[in-house]
Amino acid sequence: MESSPQVCPICQVSINPSADPAEEVRFSSGMQASRTKLWARVCQFAKGEGCINTDPSLLSTPTKTDFFGEAPSIEMDGDSPKVNI
Ligand SMILES: [Zn+2]
Repeated sequence: MESSPQVCPICQVSINPSADPAEEVRFSSGMQASRTKLWARVCQFAKGEGCINTDPSLLSTPTKTDFFGEAPSIEMDGDSPKVNI
């Protein structure tokens, strides 16, 4: 079984299968997350073309916090509202 970190060529994030499931994904920002969160925010848009995080057996049903949360987000300058992706 593959246990060394892999980088998704589509999503540009590293996945470390030997890490805790809740933090085996590391985004380029340094944020750690689960495969499910990665899928909810990134991989579902990659449509499986070369993405290494599309195996349903490794994913759970995304929750609201998997789609929306602490990052990524767009912060506008000044008094403009914050927009969370
Ligand atoms: Zn991916």
